[in-house]
Amino acid sequence: MSSDSPRWDAHLGCNYIDGRYVQGGEGQLAVSDPATGQLVAQQALASPMDVDKAVQAARRVVDSRELIQLRPVERGRRVRAMGQFLLDYQDSIASLLCRESGKPFWEALIEVQGSARYFEYYGNQAETLEGVSIPLGDGYMDFTEHEPLGISAQIIPWNYPLEMAARSLAPALASGNVCIVKSPELDPLSSICFAAAAEFAGFPPGAVNILCGHGHSAGAALAGHPDINQIVFTGSVETGVKIAQAAAPNIVPCVLELGGKSAAIVRGDADLDALMQNVRWGIFFNAGQVCSAMSRVLVHESIHAEFVERAAALANSLPLQTGVDARESGAGMGAMVSEGQRDRALGLVTRASQAGARLVAGGSTPDLGAFLAPTVFDQVKPEHELFNTEVFGPVLSVTPFATDAEALHLANGTDYGLVAGLFTQDITAAMNLTRRLRAGQVFVNEWFAGGVETPFGGVGKSGYGREKGREALFNYVQTKNVAISLA
Ligand code: NAD
Repeated sequence: MSSDSPRWDAHLGCNYIDGRYVQGGEGQLAVSDPATGQLVAQQALASPMDVDKAVQAARRVVDSRELIQLRPVERGRRVRAMGQFLLDYQDSIASLLCRESGKPFWEALIEVQGSARYFEYYGNQAETLEGVSIPLGDGYMDFTEHEPLGISAQIIPWNYPLEMAARSLAPALASGNVCIVKSPELDPLSSICFAAAAEFAGFPPGAVNILCGHGHSAGAALAGHPDINQIVFTGSVETGVKIAQAAAPNIVPCVLELGGKSAAIVRGDADLDALMQNVRWGIFFNAGQVCSAMSRVLVHESIHAEFVERAAALANSLPLQTGVDARESGAGMGAMVSEGQRDRALGLVTRASQAGARLVAGGSTPDLGAFLAPTVFDQVKPEHELFNTEVFGPVLSVTPFATDAEALHLANGTDYGLVAGLFTQDITAAMNLTRRLRAGQVFVNEWFAGGVETPFGGVGKSGYGREKGREALFNYVQTKNVAISLA
């Protein structure tokens, strides 16, 4: 790890357009630590005009063919170098992320390392995008090539600002595209590390542009810009609809990675000790601000009482923690990203109690900071708001069931379909349920099983398209068929 001071320190709070660190046309935004309320730094806010400058710079790189003409192995090396840069400066990047997002340091470090892993994985994939030759008889030679789309516009949420950006930047660059990243308003500061990483790796000015701005202004200008070629959006369903509408007149393809209300089905034969570890990470990691969080547990009635008791004990055992000194992995749970998000979650908690769900742990907020104690509700019914609405906070809903058919009906009973989980020793039951679960990915006996290598995305209102894995590379390219007459 390098002990040098990171080279973006002087540019903290700037946007990065066309290889230059710049201010924005819409003034500045104060970014505060949600755990303490202390100001971290001011962030420049891009205007639609700044967005246009970024698109023009990106277009110049596309037109120059500077990245397309590279041998893929060289593009791959540069992409991997970006990941190595993040690892070299992981402590300082994680410290900044920790302060702007309220995550404890150990969680921020996991995010930086996870971001680096995307650059490693897709850097390695750069040389594997091969076309095919299609036999048409002696009269023709026919083959396909995968061409980059051009300008990839990437609109990022606040829950994992670095990892979500890395997830799109790495495959886009590896396949020869140029990128404009619109970072989230609540924690935009650490994203500037991608600018320094791109420079370090040798990408030309304009190939990677990082800007923050309000969603309704810079975000909308980017999504609706007539000269972008693709949008990857990660965020809420409400905004996802706007993105798809903005892209439609320009016939720009989108990947929409939206929310979830994902359920774990716990059958009567599940290993409860192992399950509790999964609950700890499934719903309380990142203070529950995870699109694929285990936000609902559907538990067989034979073990329901024991599960609820253990889930409440688990929630009560997790201290609230924050800051750069919180280094021990798993030792506690951090703040939510803002008081606004915490109050939204608290509203859902209050209404769930009023609707008749049984609060068995948490539900409280300390005086200082955007914290919500790890919270567990039992007897959450399909008609309750909490059953269907994404909290995006540390709130677990428990619902008992009697039969597999009932569990399946409950699991599939929301508009979402991001992930689902099964906890059972019975492989036949697991496979039968897996086939019938309406979700983009199913975890059997380990929530969050998988990795950068495995495709991730939703069905229903959780979105469409897949990020991660080899499959995601094909979001960033289009096939050109070349047919040659040999007559
Ligand atoms: P959000 O939709 O409010 O904002 C996401 C981004 O969109 C931000 O950068 C915002 O500035 C921008 N934006 C807002 N309005 C816009 C507009 N009109 N045009 C263009 N851009 C606009 O979401 P959020 O609150 O930041 O994130 C939370 C949501 O993200 C949750 O629903 C969560 O489940 C989802 N999420 C999904 C995944 C996934 O991979 N499926 C991952 C992380 C988060």
